[in-house]
Order: sequence, then C-alpha cells, then structure tokens
Amino acid sequence: MAEDYPDVQLLIDGAWRPGARGRTIPVVNPATEEVIGAVAHAEIGDLDLALAAAKKGFALWRDISAFERGKMLRRAAELLRERLERVALAMTREQGKPLTEARIEVLAAADTLGWFAEEGRRAYGRIVPARGPNITNLVLKEPVGPVAAFAPWNFPLNQIVRKLGAALSAGCSIIVKAPEETPASPAELIRALVDAGVPTGVVNLIYGVPAEISNYLIPHETIRKISFTGSTAVGKQLAALAGRHMKRITMELGGHAPAIVFDDADMDLAVKLLVAAKYRNAGQVCTAPTRFLVQRKIFEPFLDRFVAAAQALKIGEGTAPHTQLGPLANPRRIEAMEALIADAVSKGAELRTGGQRLGNKGYFFAPTVLANVPLSARAMNEEPFGPLALVNAFDALDEALAESNRLFYALASYAFTRSAATSAALTARLEAGMLAINQTQVAWPEFPFGGIKDSGYGREGGSEAIQDYLVTKLVTQAAG
Ligand code: NAD
Repeated sequence: MAEDYPDVQLLIDGAWRPGARGRTIPVVNPATEEVIGAVAHAEIGDLDLALAAAKKGFALWRDISAFERGKMLRRAAELLRERLERVALAMTREQGKPLTEARIEVLAAADTLGWFAEEGRRAYGRIVPARGPNITNLVLKEPVGPVAAFAPWNFPLNQIVRKLGAALSAGCSIIVKAPEETPASPAELIRALVDAGVPTGVVNLIYGVPAEISNYLIPHETIRKISFTGSTAVGKQLAALAGRHMKRITMELGGHAPAIVFDDADMDLAVKLLVAAKYRNAGQVCTAPTRFLVQRKIFEPFLDRFVAAAQALKIGEGTAPHTQLGPLANPRRIEAMEALIADAVSKGAELRTGGQRLGNKGYFFAPTVLANVPLSARAMNEEPFGPLALVNAFDALDEALAESNRLFYALASYAFTRSAATSAALTARLEAGMLAINQTQVAWPEFPFGGIKDSGYGREGGSEAIQDYLVTKLVTQAAG
C-alpha cells in the first residue's frame, strides 16, 4: 500500500466503517498499475443501514434553516481548501490526472459548495393573487427527500459535489455511491462536510457493485430522488427503473461535442483552447470537444497546428512537474481507444498523430488526431472518452450545423468565429445543452450544466440545479 494513499471506508450514520462482510476492492494507480490501497465494499445490509440513516438524517436536516445549512457548506469549502494538497494528491494517485488539474478540481469543488450554500437561501416560493377576500395562496418549495447519487471516476470530486451541494442546500439527505476506482478524494469531500458539522445520517457514502446498489436503492421507498452521471446506456437503464417507481431523476450522460472552427476565427485562440479542452483529463470528459469541424479554407493549417500542439503536450505521471497529459484511468479506455482508432483507419480515416499506447507500464495513450474521418466510423458516433480528436472539413454553415446536430448526444458544443451573424445562427440552431463561442469553459457553478436529447436532463449548476431537489406544495387558505 502506498504511504500517501489512505484506505477508504464507508460512512454510514456518522460512522466510518468497513462493509458488513469486510470485503474490499483494490485501488490501482493508473500511472504505475500498482495497487495503492483498498476501498470497503458495501453489502445489502449496509445499504439498509444507509437508507435508515438517510431517512433519519432527512427528518433532521430539513428542519435546519437554509441559513445554517449554508454556514456548514461554507465551512466544508474552507476545510477542503485547507486540505488542498492532500486531497489533490490522493486524486492524482487514484485517477491519474496531472496534479495541477487535481488541484483545480479540489478548488472548484470548494467553489461549488460556496455557490450552493447561497442557493439554499434563494429557494423562494411565491404568493398567488387570490380570487376573493381573506384568502392566501402560497406556493412553497420543500426538499424532495433522501437522494441516491451515482458518480463516476473521471472527476472524482466534481461529479459528486454538484449532487451533494444541490441536495444539501435544498434540505435533502443523501447516499452517495462514489466511484470504486477513485474512492479516496471523494471520501475527503464527505469528511470535510462531516467535520464542518453536517449532522449524522445526512450524508452517507458507499462503494460496492454499482448495478447491485442502484437496483436496490432506486426502487426503495426511502429514496425520493436519483442523480446519475455516467454513460448514456447505463443512464437509460436507471431512468427506466426510476420511472417504474415514479422517482425524480437528474441524468448527466455522455457527449460527443462538435467544435466548429470558421475561417474567420482567431486560429491561435482556437488551437490553444481546443487542444487544452480536448486533452484535459486525458480526454475523459463528457464535455470534451470531439468532432472538430473546420472550414475548408483553414482546414490544413488548423490541422497542422493542432497536431503540433498535441505532440508538444508533456506526458507523464500526474505527480511529475509539468505533466499535461496523464494516463487513462483504466485499461478499458486503452482497449476502447485502440478499437475506435483501428475501426476509423480501416474505413479510410488518416492518422495524423498518436494512435497507440505509450510504454507498457501505466495506461498511457498518445494524444491522437484522425483527419477526414468517415461518418460510418464508430468514433464519429460513439463517445470516445479518451485523447482522440476527429477533424473533418466543411464548406458552409448549414453543413456544419447538420453534422453537429446529427447525433443523439447533445451536451456541450463549441464554435470559433468572429462573425456576429454566424454566432447568432449557431445560438438559434445548434442542438446542445451548452454552447461556448470563442471559449471553452462551460462548467462554472453558476452555469446550468447539462444536456438535451440522449445526453440527459436536469441541470447541475446555476439557479436551475437546486430546483431538481425541491418539490412544490400549494397551500390555499381562507380566513377561518
Ligand atoms: P460504465 O458505463 O460501466 O460506467 C460508467 C459509470 O457508471 C461508472 O461510474 C460506473 O460505476 C457506473 N455504473 C455502471 N453501471 C451502473 C449501474 N447499473 N448502476 C449505477 N451505476 C453504474 O463504463 P466505464 O468503463 O466506467 O466508463 C465508460 C463510459 O462511461 C465512457 O465511455 C463514458 O461514455 C461514460 N462515462 C461518462 C462520464 C460522464 O462524465 N458523463 C463519466 C465516466 C464515464
């Protein structure tokens, strides 16, 4: 076991403890393939205890004022900032991302808690004008109830903190099923909340077999709300299960973002921002730009510069200074990259750089660029979720829009242009939950983060986020 990586336990009803049968799951450092620790494995009996705790925690938490709840969230944010180095290092060890990215993620998680601390105070209801004298019509917003949240390994903190922040600020208790592959950094997030005074039972943390846990928690009568981040395929299964049991859901699913570069764009800016956005977190980002659509006049110059910038990325262990591209998080992603690239090349795509695993220890994969990729290639239709850029040429705006809107994925989208008319056309006609023009940042806490079509529904930021955790109650009263 690594000295700087803690073993991780479950948090149930305020106690950090092993699973009922003492089973554990090994945690592997993707940069070295070494087992660095272990995470406790919950059994069904543990889930029952977590459900009972969440039920009790909800009864307590809903009666604490939003003002007091906000104070605890702000305190947890401070604690996370104080513990920045420890949490970031654990994240890099378990997930592989460069330490600089891990630090940004920890600070972003603190920022998100701060945002939600304030949102709770703004969960306003309203008064509806009465139809007669001495009548009051109140529309009240109340917490929906205990939440079950399922989060993946690509952003071990940030996929969870959005669910936690929204749930806690709304007055809900929560059971977090955190990622087994990257368990320590999310456990530190939960620890910060506990240390900040969030009462026993309000937040519970479990790990185990994802399908077993979701199949048990989603139908359970205690759970009133589900939030899931992960693949579209799994999201559809969980949404169907939640639907059968009439549970509220937020679904943050896969993406296949178009990045349209017009010939009037600032090319320096486009290359710099798009290379950074493509290869951040080794491309394992649901909002990563994937289908690069470049106007024909600048196609070759853009491609040359993009390839050069991708080749210049410093690849290495996340803990090494100056690393910009760490390993993929697990061997499944290596296999997925190899299969998608081989398929695209066999169908006529040109491999401009990368295309293969690097070394034979650690899950490193070269930043890859494929050009002139046929639409029949799997990579043009399936989320690559790795360091793979697909660059194709287009002639006219309508063509770029048609290609952008072709897939059922519709999470993020990007465009680079200096034309107000082009921006207006994209704003009106691009089908996506989020559109960034001449920049690539779509995930600030104050932004309504989320997708449309098969990329899911519900929003995990902005003033919309808390609404998914509130129910509406009408009270109409005549003077008695
Ligand atoms: P996967 O689809 O098996 O797992 C993705 C996540 O969903 C994991 O966290 C997993 O624990 C969870 N999961 C899987 N089945 C579940 C179930 N029945 N109930 C509850 N949770 C369940 O595959 P993977 O290999 O881990 O990731 C591959 C794909 O997942 C990627 O290609 C990508 O499309 C998607 N993914 C998306 C995001 C995102 O940010 N939207 C994050 C991670 C993975």
